[in-house]
Amino acid sequence: METLCRLTPALSVAPQVSAEDLGGLSALGFRAIINNRPDGEAEGQPPSALLEATARRLGLAYRHIPVVSGKVTDADVQAFAAALQELRGPVLAFCRTGTRSTTLWALSQAPHLDPAAILAAAKDAGYDLSGLRPRLDAAWDAAQPQAAAEPDTPATQYDVLVVGGGAAGCAAAASLLRRRRTLRIAIIEPRETHYYQPGWTLVGGGVFNRAQTSRPMQRTLPPGVQWVRAAAAGFEPEANAVILEDGTRIGYRALIVAPGLKLDWAAIPGLEETLGRNGVTSNYRFDLSAYTWELVQGLQHGTALFTQPPMPIKCAGAPQKAMYLSCDAWRQKGVLRNIDVTFHTAAPALFGVAAYVPPLMRYVERYGAKLALQSVLKSVDGPARTAVFATRQPDGSVTEETRSFDMLHVVPPQVAPDVVRASPFADAAGWVEVNPETLRHPGYGNVFSLGDACSAPNAKTAAAIRKQAPVVAENLVAVLEGRDPHAVYDGYGSCPLTVERGKVVLAEFGYGGKLLPTVPWDSTKPRRSAWVLKTKLLPTLYFDVMLRGREWLARPKLLPHVPAPHEAAAAMPERQGARAG
Ligand code: FAD
Repeated sequence: METLCRLTPALSVAPQVSAEDLGGLSALGFRAIINNRPDGEAEGQPPSALLEATARRLGLAYRHIPVVSGKVTDADVQAFAAALQELRGPVLAFCRTGTRSTTLWALSQAPHLDPAAILAAAKDAGYDLSGLRPRLDAAWDAAQPQAAAEPDTPATQYDVLVVGGGAAGCAAAASLLRRRRTLRIAIIEPRETHYYQPGWTLVGGGVFNRAQTSRPMQRTLPPGVQWVRAAAAGFEPEANAVILEDGTRIGYRALIVAPGLKLDWAAIPGLEETLGRNGVTSNYRFDLSAYTWELVQGLQHGTALFTQPPMPIKCAGAPQKAMYLSCDAWRQKGVLRNIDVTFHTAAPALFGVAAYVPPLMRYVERYGAKLALQSVLKSVDGPARTAVFATRQPDGSVTEETRSFDMLHVVPPQVAPDVVRASPFADAAGWVEVNPETLRHPGYGNVFSLGDACSAPNAKTAAAIRKQAPVVAENLVAVLEGRDPHAVYDGYGSCPLTVERGKVVLAEFGYGGKLLPTVPWDSTKPRRSAWVLKTKLLPTLYFDVMLRGREWLARPKLLPHVPAPHEAAAAMPERQGARAG
């Protein structure tokens, strides 16, 4: 018989084999024969039935997988692959020249072997299959997504993955890099622009222009951090992976969940379609804050309504700040007495920390505003300029009232983002569940959260993030290095209440409403210096200090005992997805 060519240790190929050759092949150690030639292809060709009978007599397994020359189908390839799986080798496959058998082998290996390696092996055996390259490449490429979808091996891995490039995500990443320069950190953030939201109150009050409250995202992300321009669509904490909207999975050793909160405009029927028109505005949106100031300037007389939804909301003082700055502008223009102002708040008191209520009430009285407590905005009819409020009465009953307005400043209900609510991290209310002191998830030891998205019962403010970010950074580094979290957050939050143009009541407080003034002064007093802080210093402190990981007056409080790595070696297994217990 003519030359045998060895493709792999288990498979050789050959040109036409005769019945007489089979004894010699058996003596060479072959255990199975595959015939790839259709019967009757050429004169003198031994029929398959004869070859099969002879092979069986010699104890050789036999398969007839006839393939038309130049027409190797996918079904042929599958049949050949199945035969190779079943037969115990070494196997000899043959056709007229051996090319069809080599082609079948090459295509059957394409999903597993690099096409270049297959072609090289065929060439060594004397078969030039370079014309097969596109088909081999296609089979190889088609197999790749399957490999990428393996549940435990995301293609891209980071030491720390941060979801959300807002105040919380940027500050935490910057604080981490201050501690460990070499950490590989990525921030998942879909927006091109970063907003300084505390400035929107000042835009609505005619103090700032909108440009002062936004910067390109690229400039606010900490240098050295990888920006993943996408939105997180799901979490797989057991596999330490975050899934993006396009299905890409990104792996991590530790995760920070900081996507902020969702403004639920749609919860109030009629509101969304009239925002920015018909006198309906909100400082809670970048594009609308300028409309607030436009309305304030235009109003000479009529009715102005300001609303505050049920807690929690970000910056609980912002709804009334909008009212104070509007009233002050109308006062200065001499039109305030012509404007009927009401503050409708879902809360039972003007402010959540009792110490600040008296000074704020003095401003409500000074502006002649009415206060409607436990009064919730239910719906809006923009073109008709009416709004419906449900108000709880002292006897516990709830009455509905339709009010006409010339200006309506709405603060929408606020809820956890859908991606968080649907995740394994969510608490009963939908927020990312964290221990209020360590800001670590109670179930997943390598997951942290801060900012508006987390469940800690602090005032949701950028000021809170200034103190939370160092705590998260400290504890996350500890966990990565096999130690227990040891930094604690005291619930600090701050709300600079702009009670008039030029004066601020700087409310600073922690868990349980405990007053935590940074400067030892009476923080309930309206102050000019606090106005200067709010309008001149805080934007710089935000962008150039907090977002750069400079922890001025924000060093975290550390618990006295920090366990040595060997004491806590088991605290952080190599794969972090396991529940912390
Ligand atoms: P954000 O800053 O809202 O950032 C969240 C980021 O996550 C966004 O960039 C968003 O694009 C991104 N994101 C969302 N979903 C996803 C996803 N699925 N995947 C990836 N990324 C996602 N605070 C104060 O301290 N003082 C004040 O005076 C003050 N005044 C305020 C006035 C107003 C009108 C408003 C609206 C807020 C005010 N705040 C104030 C509150 C403060 O701005 C917020 O508490 C703070 O911005 C929260 O930061 P954060 O990072 O948690 O959320």
